[in-house]
Amino acid sequence: MLLNNAPRSGKDGAIAPEACQWASTIAVAGASAIACAVSFAVTFAGAVAVTGIVDVFDSSAIAGKLLILGAPGMCFLNNAAIAARELLHQFTLVAILDIDMHHGNGTQQIFYQHGDVLTISIHGLPTNFYPFYTGFENERGSGEGYGYNLNIPLPTGTNEASYIQALEKAIDAISSFKAEALVVATGFDTFKFDPLGCFALESTSYNKIGRKIKSLCLPTLFVQEGGYFVEALSENVRQLVTGFESA
Ligand SMILES: [Zn+2]
Repeated sequence: MLLNNAPRSGKDGAIAPEACQWASTIAVAGASAIACAVSFAVTFAGAVAVTGIVDVFDSSAIAGKLLILGAPGMCFLNNAAIAARELLHQFTLVAILDIDMHHGNGTQQIFYQHGDVLTISIHGLPTNFYPFYTGFENERGSGEGYGYNLNIPLPTGTNEASYIQALEKAIDAISSFKAEALVVATGFDTFKFDPLGCFALESTSYNKIGRKIKSLCLPTLFVQEGGYFVEALSENVRQLVTGFESA
């Protein structure tokens, strides 16, 4: 199921407020779909920037609550978190797997004290990559949420083999958690040519990532976030979806 109805940005290139709201509305629609009968959904819910289908929200990389004023990243609403909250109406345990290049600091903060949402982020090592101050392995959650936040930071130049190893670790954690539904905060800024990234994934790497995620056999919602090498973005999305579908 593909959901792709985000309104474009305003005449001056600024993000229209209704685009933010619409992006989240689509994420919720995707969550509702997989909570019913659809096995998976993909939401290309970001507002459209002047350069094409660049997702300007990069939703997980925000600090704070579901609605952020003055977000430090490129996002206003955390669509993955909103979708997870929606899924909790139907499921007891939900996992968010953040495969965007940047640490999902906002998602981590939102669910840091919650034991019903497992948050996992695979991202650039924060010692030398944005957002710098969060995303370390020792951030494990607190209170009822202790043990339900997993950060897997990876160094500059991480290639497919190393990335897949990290992904397998994440998948094992989701499996052990016994998640009943999955939200994938889907970033493509891990691509080798991405101007904002520092990993070295190929287009075909996303096919393998899709296959690995499918191995969980969970109702799955992909919420697109980062990805700034526009020339390869549609191909990378296609690889992820076809990998997931063919597994
Ligand atoms: Zn990102």
